[in-house]
Amino acid sequence: MTAAIETVGLHKHYGRTTALEQLSLTVQQGTVFGLIGPNGAGKTTALRTMLDIIRPSGGTVRVLGEDPRRAGSPLRRRIGYLPGELRLEGRLSGHRLLAFYAGVSGDGRSLQASKQSINDLADRLGVDLSKPVRSLSKGNKQKIGLIQAFMHRPELLILDEPTSGLDPLIQREFIAMVREARSAGQTVLLSSHMLSEIQQAADDVAVLAAGRLVAEGDVASLRLGAVRRVRALLGAMNEGAKHAGGGSLEDVRRGLAGVPGVEDWDLSLGAAGVAVSGTINGAIDPLVKALAAFEVRELAIEEPDLEESVLHMYGAGGAI
Ligand code: ATP
Repeated sequence: MTAAIETVGLHKHYGRTTALEQLSLTVQQGTVFGLIGPNGAGKTTALRTMLDIIRPSGGTVRVLGEDPRRAGSPLRRRIGYLPGELRLEGRLSGHRLLAFYAGVSGDGRSLQASKQSINDLADRLGVDLSKPVRSLSKGNKQKIGLIQAFMHRPELLILDEPTSGLDPLIQREFIAMVREARSAGQTVLLSSHMLSEIQQAADDVAVLAAGRLVAEGDVASLRLGAVRRVRALLGAMNEGAKHAGGGSLEDVRRGLAGVPGVEDWDLSLGAAGVAVSGTINGAIDPLVKALAAFEVRELAIEEPDLEESVLHMYGAGGAI
């Protein structure tokens, strides 16, 4: 396999802030690669060096076999880029703005083909291209950004937080677009805070924290997403499961005591029952079985939390 993107020992500092430290990454051609990490991890900085929007303080970047610092617009035409902070303030309608971008990309495809592709994407994402872009909501502006990145079917898509502001239905459509791009042989590099999105879309993933690569591989092998937040409201214990004596708060405490991976639990007794909240690291089955000894009035097991997962993997004390 050939690499679509390769960074070696990439370094970027802004004054005393180190945004990237010795970042070495390889994105194989025809794959979907997810770059994830908490706020300020360096994701945007890494993506911007690949487009020569910013220059690294050290290390090398190669994109589609070229050095972005020298390759200029011929290389940029081969890339579809969605910036993280998209600003669309002009009076132009979506149609005119996208036609303008299509002209700039000038990839030799006919204007008619570009129009077709723009209209198809607008239909899929559900955005009205007749309105001035500045009047659009955040999510609809994001859709215009996605259309301009995808419309010329570039060899490489670099998408910075692509689903920010999109509602869940449109997020699903976006995942489908990414899968189709991969099937068509395109390479996709996307950054995200959301593990679920990466899990659905990416082949490989790199986790950045404080400018450094802390894990790389496929999502399953990294065991990301092992940490979930749990909330439950429990009533009385079921008959037959009762401990001898003890109030219901004590029952719950005892009932959860042996569950592996249960951490930071907070129990409180209210009029509606015992409220339980905390995190579980690993399998949820033992927890669900332990809860089943009670009357479960409410139960929410939330999306795995990226930040918690990264902290658990590397220790909250910053042993990264
Ligand atoms: P987020 O998920 O919040 O967008 P990120 O992972 O994309 O974060 P970056 O935007 O790359 O992170 O920022 C990495 C670090 O570099 C942060 O500490 C940030 O404050 C710093 N940084 C980024 N751009 C600049 C700049 N132009 N001047 C000074 N510091 C900067």
